[in-house]
Amino acid sequence: MSIRHDDLLSALHREGVETLVSGFTACPGLFYATSAQDGILSRLRIPGGILNSKQCQAIAQIADMQGGGYVDVTNRANLQIREISQGISSEVLQHLQNLGIGSHNSAIDHIRNIMTSPTAGIDPEELIDTRPLIQSWDAYLAAHSELSALSAKFSVCFDGGGKVSVSDRLNDILLRAELIDTQVYFCLYLSFIKSQPPINTGIILLPEQCLSVLAALADVYLKHTDIQLRRKPRLQAVINSLGWENYLQQVEQRLSFTLQRSQPSPTIKEAGFWHIGIHPQRQENLFYIGVVLPLGRLTSQQLRRLGNLAAKYGSGTIRLTPWQNLLITDIPQQCVIDVQNHLTNLGLDFTVTNIQSTLVACSGKRGCAASATDTKSHALALADYLKNRVQLNRPINIHFSGCAKSCAQHHTGDITLLGVSDRNIESYHIYVGDRDSLEQFGQKIYQDVSFTELPVIIEQMLKIYKIHSLNSEESFGEFVNRYGTNRLKELRPCTIKT
Ligand code: SF4
Repeated sequence: MSIRHDDLLSALHREGVETLVSGFTACPGLFYATSAQDGILSRLRIPGGILNSKQCQAIAQIADMQGGGYVDVTNRANLQIREISQGISSEVLQHLQNLGIGSHNSAIDHIRNIMTSPTAGIDPEELIDTRPLIQSWDAYLAAHSELSALSAKFSVCFDGGGKVSVSDRLNDILLRAELIDTQVYFCLYLSFIKSQPPINTGIILLPEQCLSVLAALADVYLKHTDIQLRRKPRLQAVINSLGWENYLQQVEQRLSFTLQRSQPSPTIKEAGFWHIGIHPQRQENLFYIGVVLPLGRLTSQQLRRLGNLAAKYGSGTIRLTPWQNLLITDIPQQCVIDVQNHLTNLGLDFTVTNIQSTLVACSGKRGCAASATDTKSHALALADYLKNRVQLNRPINIHFSGCAKSCAQHHTGDITLLGVSDRNIESYHIYVGDRDSLEQFGQKIYQDVSFTELPVIIEQMLKIYKIHSLNSEESFGEFVNRYGTNRLKELRPCTIKT
């Protein structure tokens, strides 16, 4: 039986899953498909981003049979299947649930994916493996249908304190491991400001206290939210309206222990993209390979074969990253070259300085009616243009966005290209450097640059950076702040020798 997702919602409604329907939001999920410009969009929630080989095969089959023959990794390490024309049948949905894809409680499946570092449990520098906490919070959500009334954007992230940090990602709640004396604690961060990473509250938790505190944070949110609202407020709106000390007092009243406070640690530094490439794990003789996915996209055939590779050479799992790439883990040292060869045969790369390793684009005109430009095609064309013209020493994050909503990347990129359409000419405003109080994406240095002019300007900027950066440690953003946007603005094609 093939039924549309809307029909499925009605069926679940009749079965009494009221919250599923009343809590419906515009955020897609496996059971909350959304209509997009290019067909139905289904988002598969993958807690911690870890997928096993069987799950890869099943998802690849659906992408082939019912979608566009590809999947997209999102910036929360979900997977999306696009271009679905017929709706996914209830049997297939059930099959996916049986394989552990999507929550076994469909009522909470729309709540944002739980994020952690893709190197949890294998990072040589991490303080604690966060995977058990991910599983516990996911199981808690599934066991409490009343939590379906949370905002779909209620987002939780665990950071185990390793090298591949996810602490700078945008989340409502961040629990970040820190060593205080000889004990590992999780520092509690909460989001107060729109589009900004969460801020340290100064509260520290033992690992075994985290679940109770998350449950209490959710419970206080529900107590102060009209659960009949179709579009729920963000957690930060409720915290700001109550006042955060008041909010946390109410959290504490629900706990069987007193919240401990410590001196807040220094500001979070932005993560690099250092998970790309070949890296030793904390486990002796084992390695992981961070694989570049152009714009987060994998064909279903690549997904299938990556699952097979993971089963043959690793532990049978791949890990999706919030940077829209993936890792194959647990590869014995003697097999690394074989896996590299297989990846190359699949048309996939694993070098961090590949311009595509940090190139991001939203779905653009083909997938979204709000987009002014064909972001994905332009991003790929730019990467192709730069490939043999600029050799990077370190990754540079270039972000194409079809409108100011910035779905594909919420933090400020090294270079942001904001699509605008003027008299049917697809153009971009170019932003670089730090975000300031006036501009969402950094400092605007060019505006209304047509796509035909864009590659040369980006090429020049990257060459200037290569020539004038202090060393390979200086990021593009740091360079821009030191060098000055006015000097970059003066760039003209003839001023740069190739
Ligand atoms: S950023 Fe704008 S154009 Fe791009 S997918 Fe989101 S809403 Fe659509």
